[in-house]
Amino acid sequence: MKKLKRAVLIGFPNVGKSSLFNKLIGRRKSLVHSLPGMTRDAVTAACRIGGRDVELVDTGGFYGSVEEPLSGKVREHAWREAEGADIVILVLDSRRDLLPGEEDLYADLKKRGKRILVAVNKVDSAAQEARLGDFYRLGGEDIIPVSAEHNRNLEALETALAGELPPSTEERVDRSPLRVAVVGRINVGKSSLVNRMCGEERLIVSPLPGTTRDSTDVLLRRNGRTFLLVDTAGLRKMGRTRDDREKAGILRSKKSITQADVVCLVMDARECPTRQDTAIAHLARDSGKALVLAANKWDLVSGEPSAARRIRENVFRKLEFVSYAPLLFVSAKTGVRVARILDEAAAVYEEAGRRVETHELNAFLERTLAAHPPLTKDGRRVKVKYMVQGGVRPPLFILFGHSGSRLAPAYESHFLNLLRREFGFRGTPLRLMFRRG
Ligand code: GDP
Repeated sequence: MKKLKRAVLIGFPNVGKSSLFNKLIGRRKSLVHSLPGMTRDAVTAACRIGGRDVELVDTGGFYGSVEEPLSGKVREHAWREAEGADIVILVLDSRRDLLPGEEDLYADLKKRGKRILVAVNKVDSAAQEARLGDFYRLGGEDIIPVSAEHNRNLEALETALAGELPPSTEERVDRSPLRVAVVGRINVGKSSLVNRMCGEERLIVSPLPGTTRDSTDVLLRRNGRTFLLVDTAGLRKMGRTRDDREKAGILRSKKSITQADVVCLVMDARECPTRQDTAIAHLARDSGKALVLAANKWDLVSGEPSAARRIRENVFRKLEFVSYAPLLFVSAKTGVRVARILDEAAAVYEEAGRRVETHELNAFLERTLAAHPPLTKDGRRVKVKYMVQGGVRPPLFILFGHSGSRLAPAYESHFLNLLRREFGFRGTPLRLMFRRG
């Protein structure tokens, strides 16, 4: 999976990392994702700075409140973010002295051979800039005084950053990544899967309750395509009882599904589909979004005889209404077929956007009407004259006929099945409308 160079903003609380991040990406219209009203630990954006492509990462939330029970772990994770970075942008605050911790951080990163740019933030005036002597202890040439709030000297930081990046190749940043909502019950392994897809541990996975975040987005590239994975872990804190948690989970999934291009419903291969899986699958179908089903923890069941067949039958018996969706047996633990999720997501998205020529549709209609004459709800025959595709994502088909009354639902689903058999549309729900005309 080809990825962009990563530039990671690191710094202590309140130095203005997030403001700086927002300014760096907000000054150009290349922000690839922004989910208003959602809290995230690491925010990632692909953007072009000084004519060069970079993945900019804000680790803002990693240093959350000091009361955070796992702050040690969270902090350690921020270190790991720094380690995974090609360039570290260490953000400092000019309004207070350099902290010993910051000096240590700088020295440590330097020792590990990291390329570091030091941005001293909140330098709102030239007079303030003259008083920065203390900060030059860190190694003069890399120090860039900026003010995120007053847009001061941001060009200098951008130029320095661009200087660290390779010239952009033909493979430009994809301006519209495919948004994949990774949804499912708690503990089915959503975060682990997303981590696995990234090829490195980017999200926090912890077996302890109360440790997952609200939402974390990850941007990655595979086969020349950019994916934005919207991970919806973090439901544990939302309700006390199992029922409450389920409801909260479903609500949340609904939100990410609305914002996604493709839904990936992750289930636990040992126990699927559950009631909540079914509820989420319903949401996916009703939203009209393309869907990929992933039965995770395959490593735990693959030893059983005919496990795949048994699970497949069980899944599609209960989730018959999404039988159009591909089902993958994956393991975040071993990595088996995990990358296929992305390939399938791309494939079902393509299918959902496909158009069938009107003459092909009408040839199909003619054959179908002869073999299966359409009926209305109350069992009367209907004359259908022709058919067109009225839209995509999801594909919408409009039948024009003489009667104003609806077709019988059973006939509709039968008709759609025949349509699928003829034209495919794997992974996407279909819509059918009947119009007088
Ligand atoms: P989430 O709540 O859906 O994001 O689930 P997590 O990613 O936090 O995973 C929950 C637990 O399942 C963790 O203890 C993981 O280590 C474990 N887990 C996740 N995927 C797999 C897998 O493929 N196989 C096995 N054996 N364990 C897994």
